[in-house]
Amino acid sequence: CGIVGLVGNRNATDILMQGLEKLEYRGYDSAGIFVTGENGKSKLVKSVGRIDDLRNKLGIDVAGTAGIGHTRWATHGKPTEENAHPHTSASKRFVLVHNGVIENFKTIKDEYLVDESFMGQTDTEIAVHLIAKFVEKDELSVLDAFKKALSIIEGSYAFALMDAKDPETIYVAKNKSPLLIGLGEGYNMVCSDAMAMIRETSEFMEIHDKELVIVTKDLVTVLDESGHKVERDSYTAELDL
Ligand code: GLU
Repeated sequence: CGIVGLVGNRNATDILMQGLEKLEYRGYDSAGIFVTGENGKSKLVKSVGRIDDLRNKLGIDVAGTAGIGHTRWATHGKPTEENAHPHTSASKRFVLVHNGVIENFKTIKDEYLVDESFMGQTDTEIAVHLIAKFVEKDELSVLDAFKKALSIIEGSYAFALMDAKDPETIYVAKNKSPLLIGLGEGYNMVCSDAMAMIRETSEFMEIHDKELVIVTKDLVTVLDESGHKVERDSYTAELDL
């Protein structure tokens, strides 16, 4: 149960894998990673069991300029590869990792996604299909679609969302689950735990519950629940390594 994400001028695959290893102590039953690289190449790999197993499956062919990784502690759906995160929309355009529990996922499915089929049984998969529906059928922008989905979703969450058509942006949000931003020179990160980013940066920014944050390599934009921009100072952590 941890999330790590990175966008910018670093080897995303390496850093995300190291971040996932640092999150291992939190406990997990499966893990996964999505990275995008130069020339629009991307890779999504999931595995039941240890981060080492994921590493073996991953290979080394995509260094990546952006990506998101996840360790799962199953709450809805067995710990299988299909249920491991990241989850994708049917179109494969949207990729989502989630920690927490979406309490009204069945209602959302019945109300918005009756005709859709799903790969697994997680609450999370409903969320990424919902966002995709708002973009692909209702023609909302990705930001508005994510915002609308968040206004419908009830429960606890830390989300990191990527759009394959705009792989230089990571959209994040949290409610009652931990998530914070790590700031670098020419790259930015998101993670459930500062300790998993401390090798890369000691400059952090908090995210408050119900905020939506847009992260690119040089910019972090924080929006409150009604969509207004929030000014947020970063802080330097002095952690003993
Ligand atoms: N509820 C989600 C699932 O079961 C996320 C679990 C977690 O926090 O790792 O897949």
